[in-house]
Amino acid sequence: MAEAAVSEPANEWMSSSPPSYEQSMQFLQENCAPVSCSTRIEVSTNPSVSRSVSREPPPPPLPGPAYYRQKVFSVRSSSCNTRGGYNCVPKETVDIWDKLFEGGYQADVRIFTEDGGVVPAHSNVLSVASPVLKHLLKQQKGKSCPHSFSITGVPYNAACVFIRFLYSSRYEQADMQKFCLHLLVLSHVFSVPSLKLVCTQNLEHGSLTTDNVIDVLQLARLCDASRLNLLCMRLIVKNFKTVAKSEGWKVMQQSDPKLEQELVESVVEADSRKQDKLRKIEEKKIYLQLYDAMEALVHICRDGCRTIGPHDKDLDETMGPCNFPACKGLESLVRHFAGCKTRVPGGCVHCKRMWQLLELHSRMCCEPDTCKVPLCRHFKEKVQQQSKKDEVKWKVLVSKVQAAKKAVNSFSSFLVT
Ligand SMILES: [Zn+2]
Ligand SMILES: [Zn+2]
Ligand SMILES: [Zn+2]
Repeated sequence: MAEAAVSEPANEWMSSSPPSYEQSMQFLQENCAPVSCSTRIEVSTNPSVSRSVSREPPPPPLPGPAYYRQKVFSVRSSSCNTRGGYNCVPKETVDIWDKLFEGGYQADVRIFTEDGGVVPAHSNVLSVASPVLKHLLKQQKGKSCPHSFSITGVPYNAACVFIRFLYSSRYEQADMQKFCLHLLVLSHVFSVPSLKLVCTQNLEHGSLTTDNVIDVLQLARLCDASRLNLLCMRLIVKNFKTVAKSEGWKVMQQSDPKLEQELVESVVEADSRKQDKLRKIEEKKIYLQLYDAMEALVHICRDGCRTIGPHDKDLDETMGPCNFPACKGLESLVRHFAGCKTRVPGGCVHCKRMWQLLELHSRMCCEPDTCKVPLCRHFKEKVQQQSKKDEVKWKVLVSKVQAAKKAVNSFSSFLVT
């Protein structure tokens, strides 16, 4: 369709290979900054364009499939929504927009690409789809028709995909795969958030790999694509060893040592967060074991226990072996405690542990007068003479043991309900 409008031999630009990624990056660095954008787009010389472009980029998309469905499939339906119209655009309507682009019927704008291509388009459509293009074309009002401007740094085919998207929000998946990074750049430079979202999604669902993640990360930052930035950071942290071997990483080490340092710090931070989480899980396990031991202690002293043996209880002969899980763990400790001759705190290490369990029980026991656990009352009285430091230490332990049990209980009740 563009051949008719091309002033140079069409074959030249049709067959030329698309610019490399580096060229695109170069293009972006030169164009994505609001001020330089207006200098690269050749027709724009008025500083008001720069001002218009320099507005804040739109906020990043929210995660979640419902949001994407709404954004992607309600093709340009936002105005429809505000007027209370239908959200679904029929295929025929989108076909018409596609045809208008492909046929270039009464096109009044010519868009030149660096490789010699020309894309005919309609100023009205471009103005509605992109605020940047609207300002660009405004500058040419009153001047000779057709208006024209250049998009540099991207191949003709990528520019076509971009302009078609402005018309119908349609694209071929293969084109999106091939020109995703170019389109991301264009979506930012020309302020088309819906295309930025599609590019982000495309990268998120398969195109983002450990090989290209460093390049994409740099691009995401230049394009203010926050979600893409986040996705890249996650991938890097998760697969750091592989990413650090990639070509992109090596190039980045040379070109942007600050970014390298930032990424390494992020990986270290994530690692220490993971270690911290594991330590907390381990701690919680211990607090839970202590809680179980406290319950088992009361059960042993109050009911008697088949596993550990009766003390002053006549156990029912028909009673099976105890299935209180913590009894098994307490068995050897209780047996040792009963037989050990050095029953003083600070003496035998096993006895010391038993003393600690007994003291913990006493701290948690609400019925010291009727309690059957040895030394329960003794420890309650001892509390008065304890130092403040010890007191705080025990209080913290008791609250953590109780909190661990509480958390498990509320989780179980959540599962049941
Ligand atoms: Zn038992
Ligand atoms: Zn001992
Ligand atoms: Zn007690």
